[in-house]
Amino acid sequence: MYRSEINIKHSNRSHLYWGIDKATGEVVGIDDVRSRGLNCNCKCAACHGDFIARKGEKNKHHFAHQSNYECVYANEIAVYLFVKMVFASYHRIKKW
Ligand SMILES: [Zn+2]
Repeated sequence: MYRSEINIKHSNRSHLYWGIDKATGEVVGIDDVRSRGLNCNCKCAACHGDFIARKGEKNKHHFAHQSNYECVYANEIAVYLFVKMVFASYHRIKKW
């Protein structure tokens, strides 16, 4: 039986906690970002769309696409890039 009060889109949506800093190109977590909204200067790792930092009082802090578009693998790609960045810095240290 169909229940209209269930919001399928909302229940399937996972919050985004990782983005790309547009100034440095590095992966940043929502807690590393100081500014709210578009001032966070971050973009999505998957579609490169602008992010809004949602750092309110009620909900857990997260990023949202400015376009309201939901990427399927935005979190996964950001984490992959973060791991890649960590390994790259590890190799730089190792060369010393
Ligand atoms: Zn995206």
